Amino acid sequence: AEAVVTEDWNGTGATSDGLRVKVLANVGSAKDARAAVEAGAEGVGLFRTEFSYLDATDEPSVADQQAAYAAVLAPFHGKPIIVRTLDAGADKPLAFLAPDPEPNPALGVRGIRVSRERVDVLDRQLAAIVGAAAETGAEVSVMAPMVATVEEATWFADRAHAAGVERAGVMIEVPAAALVADEIFGAVEFVSIGTNDLAQYTLAADRQLGAVAALNDPWQPALLRLIGMIGKAGLAAGKPVGVCGEAAADPNLAGVLVGLGITSLSMNAGAIRKVGAALAKHTEDTYRQVARAALVSHKASDARATVHAMLS
Ligand code: PEP
Ligand code: MG
Repeated sequence: AEAVVTEDWNGTGATSDGLRVKVLANVGSAKDARAAVEAGAEGVGLFRTEFSYLDATDEPSVADQQAAYAAVLAPFHGKPIIVRTLDAGADKPLAFLAPDPEPNPALGVRGIRVSRERVDVLDRQLAAIVGAAAETGAEVSVMAPMVATVEEATWFADRAHAAGVERAGVMIEVPAAALVADEIFGAVEFVSIGTNDLAQYTLAADRQLGAVAALNDPWQPALLRLIGMIGKAGLAAGKPVGVCGEAAADPNLAGVLVGLGITSLSMNAGAIRKVGAALAKHTEDTYRQVARAALVSHKASDARATVHAMLS
């Protein structure tokens, strides 16, 4: 039998000199939530609610939604969990929120754009989330996907607060939102960067198309520069900036993200221990240095190789 490799991590995300960086999980189901707790997640940085309804033909009732969300929240009693409102459309179509046929669904009516058209569906979901939070005692925040403008962020935060949500945030996964991040922080309590979509839209490279996978690389210096802008804006505003895209699951890239000012990292449960252990190996200053090196690289592969050499 193969030897079991156990990563050495104490369960509290931090650099070797004590800068706290929460190590959180991405989940889509109660099963994922239990696996995340088992893996040592400090909470949930992204609960993809649409995953529960990919096969649903009709909108689930508020009671059914509340039960489904409570099952995911329950293992995180007393811990932070960020629930994302339905990210319908493009790679995650929902039958009950299907748009008219679109030539380019990734650029179409998806995420918060659907919520703007179907405010009734959003309000019912917010009611179910608030109910599930009260039921389980999880420390719930709510965020919207695919936000492009400050006006959308303000609209969502107002709607969420009116529904009884204490902490409202938005995902930054559209370059336009990254460019006005400083203004977005005026409207919300936190942001979370979705590097999967932010890479897709920054490099104009479809995340589902293998032929452009080399462009759609989270080590692309252009993407890292945008993330750095958001990190600076978060620091200036004194508000949390998470990353919940796949980038956070790469231990060396996680170090770069910390160096760019990211305050929490959210990933699949399988990566938690590895990333937690890697973060604890170096100081904040070292992560700032690797971030600077990555930002001035001319290719994603150079950034990856340079940082790998600096951290090994
Ligand atoms: C992202 O875009 O990086 C993200 C976390 O959201 P999703 O992968 O669900 O689009
Ligand atoms: Mg996304």
